[in-house]
Amino acid sequence: MNFKNNLEDYLKEIYNNIDAFGSANESMISKRLKVSMPTVSEYIDKLRNRGLVKSIGRDILLTDKGLKLAYPVIKRHRVAEVMALKIFEVPWEETDSEVMDLEHAINDKYVPYVIKNLGNPEKCPHGNPIDPNEKINDKSIFSVESGNYKISRITYEDISILKKLVEINALPGSEVRIEKNDTINIICHGYVSISPKEAMAIKVF
Ligand SMILES: [Zn+2]
Repeated sequence: MNFKNNLEDYLKEIYNNIDAFGSANESMISKRLKVSMPTVSEYIDKLRNRGLVKSIGRDILLTDKGLKLAYPVIKRHRVAEVMALKIFEVPWEETDSEVMDLEHAINDKYVPYVIKNLGNPEKCPHGNPIDPNEKINDKSIFSVESGNYKISRITYEDISILKKLVEINALPGSEVRIEKNDTINIICHGYVSISPKEAMAIKVF
């Protein structure tokens, strides 16, 4: 992995964690990027020294400078996901993990043309806006009460979460019922139980 890819993967990972859970932390980054904790710590120090991240206790946040650098990476990732789904016919639940290399290979100056030729998609296959600046008025399953909702997006696109949703065909736009007792259940075509953390990552409206 070269330095550019490394930096982009870190920025993306931190951004997605913040989007889903409010902040990132070293153990989650280590798990997702499959690198050791000391390596992550060392890299986060580098990012901090460059003024791209700030830490509050164990919570890692992006600075304005870090966010500015993360936006084009996130955008390219989401475009690459649409490409994976439409052009390569990668299964929906695998698009996030399958595009890790592809997303680094698209030069930013060509991104607008890729978007145009993909039919101007506004969202990634998981419902996240291609333009990361676009704000969506939705709530996490964790924060809503039992009731009927529509899936808006999956902010933390982990394959285990995506697999659960695809199992009951609960994709962005699908009408679902959320039932919360001792467990959190999503009912669509069948039902799945999800963890509180997974509930934070799935947004509904
Ligand atoms: Zn996505």
